Amino acid sequence: MPLQDEISATIKPGQDLYRSVNDKWLTASEIPANKSRIGVLTSLSDENVERLRTLFERSPAKSEPVNIRRAKSLYASAMDEATIEQTGIKPLQTPFDEINRIETHESLFTFLANWHGRGFGLVWHIGLDVDDKDSARYVMRISQSGLGLPDRDYYFNQGQRFEDARQAYRTYLQGLFELLGHDNARTYAKKVYALEEKLAAASNTATENRDTQAKYNPYQVQALSQTFPHIDWKRYLKQLGLSDVETLLVSQPTFIKAALELLYSQPIEAWRWYILSHCVAPLMTSLPQVYDQLSFDFYGRALSGATEQEPRYRRSINRCMSILPEPTGQLFVEAHFDEAAKESIYDLVDHIKLALRGRIQKLDWMSGATKQRALEKLDTFLPLLGYPDTWRDYTNLQLDHSYVENILALHAFDWQYDVARLNQPVDRKEWLMSPAMVNAYYWSSTNGITFPAGILQPPLFDAAGDFAANYGGIGMVIGHEITHGFDDQGSQFDEKGNMRPWWTTKDRKAFETKSKLLEEQYSSYEIDGHPVNGALTLGENIADLGGLLIAYDALQAKLKESGETEAIDGFTPEQRFFLSFARIWRERRRPELTLRHLVTDPHAPAMLRVNGVVANVDAYYDAFPVAQDSPWHKMPDARVRIW
Ligand SMILES: [Zn+2]
Repeated sequence: MPLQDEISATIKPGQDLYRSVNDKWLTASEIPANKSRIGVLTSLSDENVERLRTLFERSPAKSEPVNIRRAKSLYASAMDEATIEQTGIKPLQTPFDEINRIETHESLFTFLANWHGRGFGLVWHIGLDVDDKDSARYVMRISQSGLGLPDRDYYFNQGQRFEDARQAYRTYLQGLFELLGHDNARTYAKKVYALEEKLAAASNTATENRDTQAKYNPYQVQALSQTFPHIDWKRYLKQLGLSDVETLLVSQPTFIKAALELLYSQPIEAWRWYILSHCVAPLMTSLPQVYDQLSFDFYGRALSGATEQEPRYRRSINRCMSILPEPTGQLFVEAHFDEAAKESIYDLVDHIKLALRGRIQKLDWMSGATKQRALEKLDTFLPLLGYPDTWRDYTNLQLDHSYVENILALHAFDWQYDVARLNQPVDRKEWLMSPAMVNAYYWSSTNGITFPAGILQPPLFDAAGDFAANYGGIGMVIGHEITHGFDDQGSQFDEKGNMRPWWTTKDRKAFETKSKLLEEQYSSYEIDGHPVNGALTLGENIADLGGLLIAYDALQAKLKESGETEAIDGFTPEQRFFLSFARIWRERRRPELTLRHLVTDPHAPAMLRVNGVVANVDAYYDAFPVAQDSPWHKMPDARVRIW
């Protein structure tokens, strides 16, 4: 729909940009029963899923690449409900027997290692990571895990919605034990919940987990047992195929210490029930319908607010995208990626980088020395666009069994793959998400930004469309990701991706003072009566503000180059830029999901990702008359300015 038809007749862009662009849609749209959110990004994501469905269900070409055959096998097994029902929980009998035999602490820890070695977290998570202080090497990192509710706050926060979530979780646990054929299911559910509550009390908050420095705790394996007793670490690591490992990173030492203490002091019988429920949880959706339904009742209904399940094919494709990211992406890009688009995206990235360069040079709060380093960092940015240069090879993964067996095989395969990579050089061009995804990310360890083919599409990006809208759409998103390299976390990493201070103390202080203002701004907002967490969302809010500003500067440069400054549909290029920006974040969410995101999501709610940002942007006040009594109006000296 042309922009001018979408805009509200009564709410002006200078009054409330988000509602002005989205009010018609917000009023007319309804969240379908099987969704917990709808919006521009989710509908693009759904379109990608529909296209993938056609590709998945098409009869195979003569010489299909192995990866695509693997993706199709996984999809076929996910869709084969008859086999899923017939197989039942038989493939889990071995782990169930092992759990039954846990009677000593030694056997308890043996099982933990055993399950971690099958590629699943349990109480904690162990996995491959790039060393924050030496980006040329991989390390194994241990992090807190082990909660069934989305975050530690869910166990303790006051309020009916949290109370409901806790109750729903206990009901889910009871339902699970009943399905597995155990009497006294209610008692076991209570025991599991009580253990989780103790783990939750020892867990970091989501905000604490944004502190990269605090999470960097290297321990010599030799000395691990001094800090973390009760477990035989050498044995544990040997069981995981990690005998050679000399150092481990521990993200939350307090949690790991407490978890080990609990594993040691709490009754083993309670841990057996805990382990049973946590081993089955990630597999529920690949098990027979009764399990799938129980999982939906909790995760889909209670925690997200949907009342119906999405069609099976959509859930299956999303699963393929998350656990076979590259093969699914390969299938997608072979049919749907326009190579010619790459060129105009690279052109956009160049303009955005130039704009940030200009801004850094002009900053009045940063010294020349720090500026020099910031520019060096900007120059070494590694953009990965569309899809990887080389695809990860899945030839040795067999996926010709039932859905749940395939999932188990895939997890074990991924674990072995990571163990094998531990002593290899870091792959700086690795992709951390599927090329078919509608998403993007910055990775501080490689100083790289990645834009999957899935997001390089209208309405974010249209090579043949209005370039002002492109700059307000994908341009802003690119600016956002680049700014992550300079947000409160990213700015702690240098141009090589190593966490080390490259700022003068005075500059760092000035940056923190400015960031604090942004934190306070967002902490003053409420959504559905719940407070927004300015500290949790700080990095994303810095990136939103910086991203919009540099995309705007880039647009100005582009306008100078092209001379195409005329209005379209009565809107100047600058106005189209802001309108397009407000449109990409258009979204409706169910209250259950809103609450979950307020607790766990480092992004601010959609409306604030528009109005909270433009309130600080001078160019917005130039593009639209903003009344001083608008709740989003800020006097020039009250506007937060960082990058
Ligand atoms: Zn971001």
